[in-house]
Amino acid sequence: MGPFYCEICRQTDFSGKGHIYGKSHQSKLKVVLVKFLEKVKEARRCIKRPQVEKFDAVEHEQKFWCYCCQQEIQKHVTDGRVTVLHGALLEHMSTREHRTKTHAFWWKNKADPKLKEKFIITEEEAERLKEEVAKTLEQYEEKEDTLLKEQADIIRSQEHHRLEVLQSLREVCFPGMKQLYPYLIKLPITVIKNLLHL
Ligand SMILES: [Zn+2]
Ligand SMILES: [Zn+2]
Repeated sequence: MGPFYCEICRQTDFSGKGHIYGKSHQSKLKVVLVKFLEKVKEARRCIKRPQVEKFDAVEHEQKFWCYCCQQEIQKHVTDGRVTVLHGALLEHMSTREHRTKTHAFWWKNKADPKLKEKFIITEEEAERLKEEVAKTLEQYEEKEDTLLKEQADIIRSQEHHRLEVLQSLREVCFPGMKQLYPYLIKLPITVIKNLLHL
């Protein structure tokens, strides 16, 4: 048998493919799969309850390594404004390509067959995800709209209050000030406003 490069152990074994049955390979494989499964489990929770957040360049550009495909994959899905957490990971794990490669990976590494299905998102799950994400995004947009309207209302009422203050100053203070400081009459209204921090 020729030398065999193992992607899990990241080394060449000169005893050939028999390497994968060895204790060292099997225990490394277990560690890899346990860690990988944690990420998948976390993502899976988002199928029933997707999490949508405002885009964050640091948090939402994360990638993950798919051992089955030997490929780096985007973790979240975003349009640069809103992010669906774990969306890209779940989508990747529902593709035909990932499924085929997962079967191949399990066969090649002689991994525990009981675990295999945990690394594949079924068509039904993918469909459910799409529906839930659509609903959650709609709710998110509604909430954002309400928030924007509320902020606009606050700004409007602040502006209204400002104008009221200005009006009362004109009526009450300015005439008095003009008597005390006659030069104010010559100042343009904008300068007076600045002086009064209005
Ligand atoms: Zn190995
Ligand atoms: Zn994959």
